Amino acid sequence: MIAIYPGSFDPITLGHLDIITRGSRLFEQVIVAVVRNPNKTPLFTVQQRLEQIRISTKNLPNVQADGFDGLTVNYAQIKQAQVLLRGLRAISDFEVELQMAHTNKTISTQIETVFLATSTEYSFLSSSVVKEIARFGGSVNHLVPPHVALDIYQCYNHNSPMANPIQTEASFSNKMPMNQ
Ligand code: ADP
Repeated sequence: MIAIYPGSFDPITLGHLDIITRGSRLFEQVIVAVVRNPNKTPLFTVQQRLEQIRISTKNLPNVQADGFDGLTVNYAQIKQAQVLLRGLRAISDFEVELQMAHTNKTISTQIETVFLATSTEYSFLSSSVVKEIARFGGSVNHLVPPHVALDIYQCYNHNSPMANPIQTEASFSNKMPMNQ
């Protein structure tokens, strides 16, 4: 059975990788499918995200990465996949995911959505959380694969992140010239 794991993956996180690894044990083939979404302004191009996914999954021979436009269900049919794989972190995910699964069922009754519950250590983790931390100079080494962390630091123009420094009002005023 072939499963499609669709998403933005901007960028891929350890939470995504956990779902991919567990999915690769359940299905003959898992295709990680990067959605080209014109409504979102991504940090990475689709090509960059595909490269990040390929490097991250090179130890999983039955996992491939691909990009697609349009309806996920149509893409699944082209790939002869029977399953859409999705991850669930919280109730908020559940509402959106259930609506999407029901909508997809109205387009094709042949394709089933299979949900994997997040592993508890990644239940808080999203691509947005990673970008938010990196944007303010924090380390994301514990949240994404090492090569992805380097790509992110390059994007935000800091090569060696400080270990999540805290800037207080006092530390700001200490840096002020004495006569101010
Ligand atoms: P989308 O833009 O479609 O939400 P994402 O890249 O954010 O794409 O997520 C793709 C899929 O991976 C979704 O099903 C999402 O719920 C799931 N996912 C994302 N992060 C995690 C995580 N930490 N644990 C489990 N599933 C996750």
